[in-house]
Amino acid sequence: MSLFVQKYGGTSVGTPERIQAVAEKVAGFRAQGHDIVVAVSAMSGETNRLIGLAKQIQSDPDAREMDVLVSTGEQVTIALLCMALKSLGCDARSYTGGQVKILTDSTHMKARIQDINVDAMRADLDAGRVVVVAGFQGVDEHGNITTLGRGGSDTTGVALAAALKADECQIYTDVDGVYTTDPRVVERAKRLEKITFEEMLEMASLGSKVLQIRAVEFAGKYNVPLRVLSAFEEGPGTLITLDEEYTDMEQPLVSGIAFNRDEAKVSILGIPDTPGVASRILSAIGDANIEIDVIVQNIASNTSNDLTFTVHRNDAGKAKAILDALKPDLGAREVLTDSKITKVSVVGVGMRSHAGVASKMFDTLATENINIQMITTSEIKISVIIDEKYLELAVRALHTAFDLDLASGEI
Ligand code: ASP
Ligand code: MG
Repeated sequence: MSLFVQKYGGTSVGTPERIQAVAEKVAGFRAQGHDIVVAVSAMSGETNRLIGLAKQIQSDPDAREMDVLVSTGEQVTIALLCMALKSLGCDARSYTGGQVKILTDSTHMKARIQDINVDAMRADLDAGRVVVVAGFQGVDEHGNITTLGRGGSDTTGVALAAALKADECQIYTDVDGVYTTDPRVVERAKRLEKITFEEMLEMASLGSKVLQIRAVEFAGKYNVPLRVLSAFEEGPGTLITLDEEYTDMEQPLVSGIAFNRDEAKVSILGIPDTPGVASRILSAIGDANIEIDVIVQNIASNTSNDLTFTVHRNDAGKAKAILDALKPDLGAREVLTDSKITKVSVVGVGMRSHAGVASKMFDTLATENINIQMITTSEIKISVIIDEKYLELAVRALHTAFDLDLASGEI
């Protein structure tokens, strides 16, 4: 028999009926003889409602009190779920983060888990009980309530699984797995059976927002097998695992196509071609806490350069103002911004051992007459910046070119 940590998200516990349905599912696993520890989110919309209340009182709410407030959402669901389990005859016990001693640092609203005491949970499991733990919350060394950042219940689930050495951490959510790309853009996108932690991180950070990124990092670090599956339909979901679990035969060249519509391009033209210029520009941006993603420098002539980089769209105006202020001093010619861009990436650990992915990607885009504005690569990812009006076309063409389309008859 196995030990599973199961995390149920906000939609799956969004109404009393849904909580009852989760209880039936959990009781079913228990009846098969498995040990089950459940981590739950707040009922859907509840965390937002609580944040809204706080903002009516204080425009920039006090972080410590915010954690006291928003952690109540999960406390409601653990109690209701245990009641539902008990009324099905399945013994269960609820714990807040503090009660089960999920010890975190003191960074309110984005605390990091440092340690979990598993003694109480083990005793309950040994006594045949289901353990239900509030997601998203912990306690610092002084006994203050902390929370782990939006979507943090995923991280609670993974951390519990790591601490208990569970056989699998199962994230039950409203999608039935991780897809090769967003099915709203490519109808023939298919659910992946397996994906590696590294690939998942690239897919998640590039916009497939199925799991909190920190949860994936945590699972990778402690090698906790992670499965994303639907709370509403039967199915195997997607297993997120280590690279070595693949055999060469089944390893695809590219696992998915990710995209991100949130970036903007900022260029500073005609800067002197001397040491220290890029550093001055990019440190000024960094000092303003603006994150830079893709960077390209082209040599316009022997004495002057153009530097172009991308930032989050919300930061484009601020970045332009910073560069405009630097312009006279640097002797630069012009500062430009363009928000009508998008980043498209092909992701796959298979490209580590195979050449030719980049040329295939560029050929595919060329055939569609899509101009590539910027390129960046890592070991398992190639990203291009293109005009946003070609996003759908590019993603569909790449999905087909890398053999990711669902064949007719496949499910
Ligand atoms: N309830 C929290 C949120 O909405 C944590 C979670 O659901 O994972 O962000
Ligand atoms: Mg979530």
